[in-house]
Amino acid sequence: MADTLYRGRFAPSPTGPLHFGSLVTALASYLEARIHQGQWLVRIEDLDPLRESPEATDSILHSLTCHGLIPDAPVRFQSARHDAYKTAIEQLLSDGLAYRCACSRKQLQQQQGKHPEHCREGHTEPGNRPFAIRFALRDETSHWPDDLLGPQTQRVTAEVDDPVILRKEGFYAYQLAVVVDDIDQGITDVVRGSDLLDMTAQQQQIYRALGATPPNWLHIPVILNEEGQKLSKQNRAPALDDRQPAANLIAALEALGQRPPADLNQQPVVNILTWATRHWQREAIPLTSR
Ligand code: GLU
Repeated sequence: MADTLYRGRFAPSPTGPLHFGSLVTALASYLEARIHQGQWLVRIEDLDPLRESPEATDSILHSLTCHGLIPDAPVRFQSARHDAYKTAIEQLLSDGLAYRCACSRKQLQQQQGKHPEHCREGHTEPGNRPFAIRFALRDETSHWPDDLLGPQTQRVTAEVDDPVILRKEGFYAYQLAVVVDDIDQGITDVVRGSDLLDMTAQQQQIYRALGATPPNWLHIPVILNEEGQKLSKQNRAPALDDRQPAANLIAALEALGQRPPADLNQQPVVNILTWATRHWQREAIPLTSR
């Protein structure tokens, strides 16, 4: 029976062009949405104008199109969503679930994450100093099933782990924006790289604080380069060559443990995606590099 409720997304931060590792993530989330006869959305997480560029956004969207990864709704840009993040922060502050913090990174490091000014209790006023806003976590050991990795357990420590949700520079932080938008867009299933696995228990608390139920999660292994480093923009992973989308898709399918037939790379991208949807085997995704 069609699962009409499934809604997934690919949510890149535009710090550089799409590289092979992000294609693998995009493809996995696309195929999961397709096999569930769900919707697949693309959201550009452009929260930090100092690290991100409109050129990278254009290049990512162009690459996705070249690879046939066309979203089912208009692309959302987090840079246009500041009002929603502001409202969420105001709600968290008024519920006592967020607090202002002017501590420096050094101060926090020196005290193993404890706040010298007891910011959580709201005893100190930042005054003229720049301050961040942090989410107030509860001490908790979270258990949940990852759809690929199986049962997960994560410990979250109040105060020490409290994530920044509004940075001192005035930018909204990933940890808040990702949850606000996943809630607002009705995302039921998050498929993303396992480099974000450690964020999950904190995000579950933010979901609940905003009155929502967390989605299902599926973390796929991060693709490593030959030196064993994560393929990422920071490691200068090469941009995908958009002139050979068929070869890139075949390589991405192979990285996901699928076994495309040898002549599939002669086909147009839509045929490759159709084959991949028909033959998608989640269990075949290798877990080795997680
Ligand atoms: N924007 C995040 C990144 O590019 C991913 C967000 C997510 O999938 O949760 O790393």
